[in-house]
Amino acid sequence: MRAPSDNGSVTGGCLVCGGPLPAGRPRTTCSDGCRQALWRRRHHLQLPPPEPAPPGRSRKEGTVYECPACDARQVGEQRCECGSFMRRLGPGGYSPCCGEVITIDELLQG
Ligand SMILES: [Zn+2]
Ligand SMILES: [Zn+2]
Repeated sequence: MRAPSDNGSVTGGCLVCGGPLPAGRPRTTCSDGCRQALWRRRHHLQLPPPEPAPPGRSRKEGTVYECPACDARQVGEQRCECGSFMRRLGPGGYSPCCGEVITIDELLQG
């Protein structure tokens, strides 16, 4: 359950170009291009580059896991709080701006 919007109005127009938003489900950008631009703006590639897992450190560190039961995400820990075994999404980490767990793939895709 999430609120429709975490940061204010969703009716003011595209957050990137200011253009009109298409009708339908609530959104903050008018197109996929703007959505990606906004996403990059928020996350702007601040993740550290994937480390080559130096010996002596846990290989799990820097790996993002997602719980199939409750959609929670964690970095470097495969056991969810709910007790489920999480599936591996790939290398990633915490976004320095919003604190969300994101994968490198998501970062690059936008
Ligand atoms: Zn736009
Ligand atoms: Zn869970």
